[in-house]
Amino acid sequence: MNNKQIRLIREDFPILKEKIYNKDLIYFDNGATTQKPRCVVEKMEEGYYHLNANIHRGVHYLSQKATEAHETARNTVAEFLHAAKREEIIFTRGTTEAINLVATTFGEAFCKDGDEVIVSVMEHHSNIVPWQMLCERKGMKLRIIPMNDNGELKLDEFQQLLNERTKIVSVTHVSNVLGTINPVAEIIKLAHFQNIPVLIDGAQAVPHIPVNVQELDADFYVFSAHKIYGPTGIGALYGKEKWLNAIPPYQGGGEMIQTVTFEKTTYNELPFKFEAGTPDYIGSTAFAEALRYVQKIGLNEIADYEHALLTYGTEKLLEIEGMRIIGTAVNKSSVISFLIGNIHPYDIGMLLDKLGIAVRTGHHCAQPLIDSLGIPGTVRASFAFYNTKEEIDVFIEALKRVVGMLQ
Ligand code: PMP
Repeated sequence: MNNKQIRLIREDFPILKEKIYNKDLIYFDNGATTQKPRCVVEKMEEGYYHLNANIHRGVHYLSQKATEAHETARNTVAEFLHAAKREEIIFTRGTTEAINLVATTFGEAFCKDGDEVIVSVMEHHSNIVPWQMLCERKGMKLRIIPMNDNGELKLDEFQQLLNERTKIVSVTHVSNVLGTINPVAEIIKLAHFQNIPVLIDGAQAVPHIPVNVQELDADFYVFSAHKIYGPTGIGALYGKEKWLNAIPPYQGGGEMIQTVTFEKTTYNELPFKFEAGTPDYIGSTAFAEALRYVQKIGLNEIADYEHALLTYGTEKLLEIEGMRIIGTAVNKSSVISFLIGNIHPYDIGMLLDKLGIAVRTGHHCAQPLIDSLGIPGTVRASFAFYNTKEEIDVFIEALKRVVGMLQ
């Protein structure tokens, strides 16, 4: 993508013109959430102003239109992930709810005392705690894939963790702290050799790299709309049909049933079996619009451009004395975590904020990873395709000023 294209893209994101403390906003907190293009917000407005009616059961015009929009959005998500069937896409509140859904229902159906779940050392809390809760409920054990000093998972040790007690493997596609792009296809292959299913947390992957769940052969793949330019409060769970049919429903209520009597309820077919209650049918259409938006720009083009930002940002950061980049994997997405000398990350983040620059500081909801590195946290700059090298230059100058003030 050239400068002119980026300028045009930036026009789609009104928030990028905001002044923060009278300074131009530089938004480098895309790992936490991305900004929304006009078309996504307009889709929500259109939904509420012109298409709002509860879906699925209505015979009237608006209900049918809203149902059509919601179910078409499901097709868009299915196509985006290259799922074999639209029924394999379940709308959830996001990545967190999707993982909880699988941990609870898969756990209920297939896990027992003495079984094991494997996650990696670099997981977000949302891919640790639901499994830990399952382990506590069932008397199971959580096993951890370690990593090397660059922040790359040790696949040989992973292989040794796999055994007849392993019931499921759940790993992140891209680390939200280190930026590492994990070799998930290989992880899946190794687990499948022993007939063990794998869930991939795609929250940090889908905004940056093209994903094909069938090529990966993932059993479950989850992500959140808000990290890929869509609205908050909605996301998707992809599950292979055979697994979604094999696990019980997550929540009970309207929509997920076929028939209800006081004696017995029979459940609806996929995907409705997992979507109890009124779904976020306005959010789903805006979610689909966000996916169309990134597809229009091109996922490969986005990956290339963001990689150029990553390389440029890394080079520039390394010019700063005392710079320590946390996460130096060969295969990395546009996330840079760092520390400078003995300065606390929080102090850097606070001062950068006063200069209009939004970065994230702390443990990034990956406390076990941060603890394993023996650090207090990191400063994290995470880039999106609307960011520019010029913004990185301003960031570096600001960082030099901040360091000067704190040292
Ligand atoms: N997994 C990863 C790797 C993440 O980065 C995040 C969000 N920071 C989540 C899961 C949780 O996503 P959400 O809060 O949207 O459910």
